[in-house]
Amino acid sequence: MPDTWVVVGLDNGGTSNNATVLDAEGSFLVDRLVETPSRVLEGPEVAVEALAASLAGVLEVTGVDPARVRAVGLDTPGPASATGVISSKGATNFPQPEWWGFDIRTALEERLRLPVVYNNDGNAAALYAHHAHFGADAFRHSSVSAIVGTGLGGGVVEAGKVVKGAAGMAGELGHVHIPMHGLLEDAQPMPACNCGFSADAESVASLTGIANNLLPYWLTRFEGHPLADETPGKAAKLVRGYAEKEDPLALKIFEQQAIALGRLFTIAANFTDPSAYFVGGGVVETGPKFREWFLDKVREHTVLRDEQARAARFALVPDLDMAGARGAAIAARDVLPA
Ligand SMILES: [Zn+2]
Repeated sequence: MPDTWVVVGLDNGGTSNNATVLDAEGSFLVDRLVETPSRVLEGPEVAVEALAASLAGVLEVTGVDPARVRAVGLDTPGPASATGVISSKGATNFPQPEWWGFDIRTALEERLRLPVVYNNDGNAAALYAHHAHFGADAFRHSSVSAIVGTGLGGGVVEAGKVVKGAAGMAGELGHVHIPMHGLLEDAQPMPACNCGFSADAESVASLTGIANNLLPYWLTRFEGHPLADETPGKAAKLVRGYAEKEDPLALKIFEQQAIALGRLFTIAANFTDPSAYFVGGGVVETGPKFREWFLDKVREHTVLRDEQARAARFALVPDLDMAGARGAAIAARDVLPA
């Protein structure tokens, strides 16, 4: 069917752009990462050109005629508005002043002369998780995704569409306050988040939360632990490997993260009562035994009413490194006129 349309998804990250192609039948034409340099540190002009090169590259890899592309989905790390204007205060991935308040969606649309649909990376991954799980039934279901990375990202999907909010800041799950009673040990300090809050979900369930809050405490409880010899940032990344080997300190840290996610999902249950709760992040890349242990812990700490427990599912976000590009492509497809 060479004449049917496609949409392209572009996932913009700190070092790479990852691209995918979604066809009219709903199939992704690449099943691996198709990455090119994102060049975001060289400023908006160079970075927009790099996105155009990423699009050209994935069309070449898939042998798709550029004339078949009807729309492009773009996702970037936030904070940014619902329509793709980078925060006026800048963002971790977009530090230079040229980026502050830059409308990356419109800039790419003008460069490509194609409609561009924007989502932040957490929302794009949440949208992909939702569609991958529910398939043809996606528009009859809702979900909440929590994705543990440097921060805690994710999103809220209602009837198959991302909830963006008035300012584009809906689904910032990381900065929702959660109860700490029974999560923290008696002597454990209140965890602080980079956003200025303390005791929010990201202050526990993120790599930053491990480095700044969880590890410093747990290293005092497990004296002589080898992670004490590493820098906090490196140690935080190593915790996962220790957890897979059932290291007691690492399991304490992941248990606290799972409780935090369960408490976050309990709040979600009372807000939108979703059909599914998705967990993503590094934990998805661990072995099946640890992965299931972690998901079970999250489920155990998500307090649902009986009716909700019967209706709800818990699952891991699939294909994590491709989820952003794929979600961006789905978002582009879903705004095409029928
Ligand atoms: Zn926060």
